[in-house]
Amino acid sequence: MRLILFGPPGAGKGTQAARILEHNPGVVHLSTGDMLRAAVAAGTELGKAADGYMKAGDLVPDDVVCGLIVERLASPDCEHGFLLDGFPRTLSQAESLQSELDRAKIDIDRVVVLEVADDLIVERITGRRMDPETKRIYHIKFSPAPEDVSSRLVQRADDTEDACRARLAKYHSETLPVLPFYEARNKVVRVDGVGDPAEVTSRVLSALAR
Ligand code: AMP
Repeated sequence: MRLILFGPPGAGKGTQAARILEHNPGVVHLSTGDMLRAAVAAGTELGKAADGYMKAGDLVPDDVVCGLIVERLASPDCEHGFLLDGFPRTLSQAESLQSELDRAKIDIDRVVVLEVADDLIVERITGRRMDPETKRIYHIKFSPAPEDVSSRLVQRADDTEDACRARLAKYHSETLPVLPFYEARNKVVRVDGVGDPAEVTSRVLSALAR
């Protein structure tokens, strides 16, 4: 299985990726956001270069992100399939990815678009919190953490309202224009991303089975 999970920030791509992988063992989850956050936390040169863009809600330059993904896709564990989460986010990234796939004589099976309206996105993102110990994601209103966990929850630096609106604007201007690239290749399936995560997963799985 080679999938792209597409959708605005806060659409539930990370949550759905984890759930889809429970049904598809061996498939590797490749989240450029997670890779970049790990680089920032480790203080690498790449992380230092990416940090400012991420905090401002801007996209990290294509060459940096493409370098990360191309290197990762060449790892042996990706031979059993991969799920791209948050990549590609620009047309140039989609084209770079396609040349790599063509070179390896493989292709993407599907691009799953999780559709969520902008107003709900802002509410989801600004209320999102993470447990740094388990990496579990909670929401102050929709999915509150147990009392013993809530004191240690952290908020992502780019989950403030300003950064969230900047990320949404980038999604509309840079990322949505990627979809026609995959529509022309007949890869796109659209799934309603609103509702209980388990419900959304079953919509995704039935869309993939079609
Ligand atoms: P995410 O966790 O997918 O919401 O990504 C968090 C941030 O990482 C984004 O707002 C960007 O600053 C950066 N980022 C993640 N993936 C990409 C990408 N494919 N292209 C450019 N920047 C990215």
